Amino acid sequence: MAYVIGEDCISCGACEAECPVSAIKAGDDKYVIDAEACVDCGACAGVCPVDAPKQN
Ligand code: SF4
Ligand code: SF4
Repeated sequence: MAYVIGEDCISCGACEAECPVSAIKAGDDKYVIDAEACVDCGACAGVCPVDAPKQN
């Protein structure tokens, strides 16, 4: 299981600093989560202003 960032992402970058395992990086049109690294903590969803990260 891992969180996935949806199309609602506005690339604000807030989630990147919150991830305890540095699984979030800026992508071409939105931020993306490395599913192999994500430990499903939910911190990214907690700080996202548009609720883009969802549990997959
Ligand atoms: Fe990082 Fe946690 Fe979000 Fe996974 S759920 S990307 S570990 S902040
Ligand atoms: Fe995108 Fe939300 Fe992360 Fe901001 S906090 S970069 S809107 S997923």
